[in-house]
Amino acid sequence: MQAAIHAGRYGWKTLVIDRSKGRTFYTPRYMNMLGYPEGVSGMDLLKKGKKQAEQYGVEFLMKVATDVSKNEDGLFTITAQRRKELKEGTKDQIDIVRAKKLVISTGIMDRHPEVPNVYHWAGYGIYYCADCDGYEVLNQRVVVVGKGNAAPSKALMLLNWTKHITVVNVDPTATISDELMQQLAKYEIPVYHSPLKEFVGEDRERVEQVILQDGTIIESDKVFSALGMYSVHSELAKKLGVETLDNGHITVDPRTKQTSVPGVWAVGDIVAHTQQAMIAIGEGAQAGVWINKILRQEGHMPKRWVNWSASKEPVLL
Ligand SMILES: Cc1cc2nc3c(=O)[nH]c(=O)nc-3n(C[C@H](O)[C@H](O)[C@H](O)COP(=O)(O)OP(=O)(O)OC[C@H]3O[C@@H](n4cnc5c(N)ncnc54)[C@H](O)[C@@H]3O)c2cc1C
Repeated sequence: MQAAIHAGRYGWKTLVIDRSKGRTFYTPRYMNMLGYPEGVSGMDLLKKGKKQAEQYGVEFLMKVATDVSKNEDGLFTITAQRRKELKEGTKDQIDIVRAKKLVISTGIMDRHPEVPNVYHWAGYGIYYCADCDGYEVLNQRVVVVGKGNAAPSKALMLLNWTKHITVVNVDPTATISDELMQQLAKYEIPVYHSPLKEFVGEDRERVEQVILQDGTIIESDKVFSALGMYSVHSELAKKLGVETLDNGHITVDPRTKQTSVPGVWAVGDIVAHTQQAMIAIGEGAQAGVWINKILRQEGHMPKRWVNWSASKEPVLL
């Protein structure tokens, strides 16, 4: 959205293709964002961002980008379909878009704890990112769920905010290192080894009990997921031959955010970095600035000028 706002303000014809299903959509409160002391929801940011982008002529296609290729003329062709049609396997509403430059910001998806009705608490009583929501568990009882070393590592990080922490290793076949076990003992953090059965709680802001399959009941206020394994949406980037790490995250030039394929930028959680909304926004701005620089270096002029020639005054559209 931020890259689109920049590109639109420079005057480039800009389209956002979005399947309406990302981390920003289900984050109820960003509490660490400059300018929002009371917090702001992802939906609110997206709504305001869309309105802001539309002021500069940015268009929106709320569909899934299913394919992308770079043509011999250097342009990109992107294919987009409705989510519903993709599900049903029909193909009557395919959009084909051609573009000079492409920004990939397809993000990642968190793995949720395997309990019934998990979406009731996701983002409210269940947190995923300690850098984001650690402060929200100040002095509260927290259960950290994960496999092997991931949960103890996150538990130790949460000591910045609370000492009432319990670790659940949901895969008893996954081992926790001796070093981490010693650290947990030092800070008196109990560890259970059992898959989850269910979470209990009326209010979506509070998981009152975590019940394990071995019958253990842990009294709690919040759950932190350390399940860590998410899907990284780099399929489109890979189709273009963009360089990625083994875990699927895209590597970019730190100054410009351009990927290994000229004309393709990547920003936000899909890039290998700290996954924070402000960083995604900052990278979008960086991509917008550099796309403009490069388009101008290539001799292109923004859409607002027509009948351009050296001898004629440009006309504003
Ligand atoms: C519960 C929760 C709390 C968080 N709290 C904080 C916080 O307090 N502070 C903070 O800084 N960060 C926080 N984060 C992290 C923050 O939400 C992310 O860093 C941010 O959303 C990344 O933005 P993004 O645009 O890269 O990805 P997303 O917001 O995930 O957006 C990716 C977009 O790509 C679209 N997309 C993907 N594939 C396709 C496709 N094939 N075709 C079309 N569209 C596609 C999706 O529809 C989506 O809109 C939190 C995250 C979660 C889950």
